[in-house]
Amino acid sequence: MSGIDRAAIPQAEAGGILTVDLGALAANWRDLAGRVAPAECAAVVKGDAYGTGLETSAQALWDAGARTLFVALLSEGKRLRAVLPAATIYVLNGLFAGTEETYRDSRLRPVLGSLPEIALWTAFCARIGNRLPAALHVDTGMNRLGLAPSEAVGLAETREEIGFELALLMSHLACADEPGHPLTVRQLEDFRAIAALFPGVPASLANSAGCLSGPDFHFDLVRPGIALYGGRSRADMAPLRPVVTLELRVSQVRDVHAGETIGYGAAATASEPMRIAILAAGYADGIPRLAGSSDTRGGAEAIIAGRRCPLIGRISMDLMALDITALPEDAVKAGDLATLLGRQIGVDELARHGETIGYEILTSLGRRYHRRIG
Ligand SMILES: *Cc1c(COP(=O)(O)O)cnc(C)c1O
Repeated sequence: MSGIDRAAIPQAEAGGILTVDLGALAANWRDLAGRVAPAECAAVVKGDAYGTGLETSAQALWDAGARTLFVALLSEGKRLRAVLPAATIYVLNGLFAGTEETYRDSRLRPVLGSLPEIALWTAFCARIGNRLPAALHVDTGMNRLGLAPSEAVGLAETREEIGFELALLMSHLACADEPGHPLTVRQLEDFRAIAALFPGVPASLANSAGCLSGPDFHFDLVRPGIALYGGRSRADMAPLRPVVTLELRVSQVRDVHAGETIGYGAAATASEPMRIAILAAGYADGIPRLAGSSDTRGGAEAIIAGRRCPLIGRISMDLMALDITALPEDAVKAGDLATLLGRQIGVDELARHGETIGYEILTSLGRRYHRRIG
């Protein structure tokens, strides 16, 4: 598969090993599908399937039973069509003028989010004499993509004039990760009212957090992303199974005298004699620079020789240091691996230290790792 070919960096040459557990991904999809039934559980695979590899992850999701997939861009849709000839594929970012034929040729469905986009698709369908399917996105409070509710009402009144097959009506939640947020309550009410104007058209509102917020949010189809990939979708709930493991190689082990500093900016000082392991990955590999430490601020941790150890000093482009002073003297040697992400340290923990979110950790995962996908 191309997802593996593209990443053919031999393990012995790589600064880190990224393992994607497709079994865990499939199990997470089945888990969510069970929770939302009888609604259909789709899968969002934009952003290279949240950094896990579009083709391989989409295939695993299809094999698990996912029949509808969402990508952000037409280029992703074309790649997906090449591996999943029978899937229903929606492209979220909307219809760019001049791409209509590509949608038709790859049997992709645009998510139409403005009146001009609707006009483009309608005109194209009229020109080819075929009412091709598309989704309609209605904005209920995100102010990103989607028709204004008043525009949707207008469209519902003239529904017989819609010149394409209206296959899905959707909206997107802005704050579903914070249960009980007033905007979520309002979005749900508004979407329910709009969906009632389009009887017979399947409706979809829920992202991952919405999937876990009860049947009111499920409608006919749900669109989980982050939860499938092991990220936390609601602040008050544990994530599903971890999908990604990231192990970084020790380049060398060194002793630091008390009073010396470590790394750029001399930001971290050894208050006592210290032993550190230099790991062969850095911010160029998607590790957030803010996850490093300084004398006034702690950083992220990694597991080595069975124990959690803290990062020390700033994260460089290609390297970072791990404080292994607490380990026995010969516990770590060059070539060993430190686990930055895995069963015990999830993407959300690293994200918290990096002042970001699990989504950004996953979609930033570097291109220089040896990838094991299976
Ligand atoms: C990204 C996205 C999703 C998936 O969101 P998660 O929070 O990752 O579950 C669903 N719907 C739309 C419109 C999106 O852009």
